[in-house]
Amino acid sequence: MESMDIEVKRIGEQLELIRIGLINYFVSNSLLFDCGTTCTAERLVERVNSKVDPRLASISHIVVSHAHFDHIAGLAVLKARFPAARVLAHPRIGQLVKKEKVIEAWNNENKEFCEKFGEETLKFDLNFEIEEVGEGTLVSDMKVIETPGHSADAISLLNEEGIMLVADALGYPLSSKNVPMFFHSFSKYVESIEKIRGLAEKVCLGHNGAIFSVDYCDVALDEAYKLREEIKEGLTEDELFKRIYKEELSLYPVSTIKGVAKLLVKRSLEGD
Ligand SMILES: [Zn+2]
Repeated sequence: MESMDIEVKRIGEQLELIRIGLINYFVSNSLLFDCGTTCTAERLVERVNSKVDPRLASISHIVVSHAHFDHIAGLAVLKARFPAARVLAHPRIGQLVKKEKVIEAWNNENKEFCEKFGEETLKFDLNFEIEEVGEGTLVSDMKVIETPGHSADAISLLNEEGIMLVADALGYPLSSKNVPMFFHSFSKYVESIEKIRGLAEKVCLGHNGAIFSVDYCDVALDEAYKLREEIKEGLTEDELFKRIYKEELSLYPVSTIKGVAKLLVKRSLEGD
């Protein structure tokens, strides 16, 4: 069984990383960025309830980075613990959570993911108000920056110190390398990375405690172009799956990572 160890790290004047297993949570004043899975969110709630991290008790804003199960399933657990907290996300997410099939797919992936860590899950829904935010919206002490390309509804948060929480907009940081994640559109993914490069000094990704200087944008760009080239030259879905289903990504459901390979091939061949 893989572990869901916890790492807490101060990264800005008000900003703190709480990594739970593969998932990064960020707390800035009363704002919580990103929701993770139900099992990681339960660990975060345990920290609130046991008062090991008093800052967490005052969370009043929960921001969802984008609509993938490993960033939104935990919202159910967090909203139950913080019923008065406002939930904020890209407008598209408010529509997605009303779709039964979407909720079912997230439930299945979340269950399979959490079971790998020996964690039980209960079926969840996301039946509550989600407020819409977009480019420039201020949430607590951070500003919303739209960063589509990984997903159509991806948002990042930027603070006054130039620290940017980008979730998966810069791909997936394996211990050994960056895996590009242009699921929605290659050109938008590249545009968003260039936008991040122009705004941030430091970037905080969505997984594995990955925090880098803004130069990491060049790594993410290089890897994206390189992968698209290889796919155009004939790298197949199956070969790509074998290449990326390793290290931290091998803790995801096989079907999720097969879907990742499929989308990366599709977007590479679309020619945008
Ligand atoms: Zn994602």
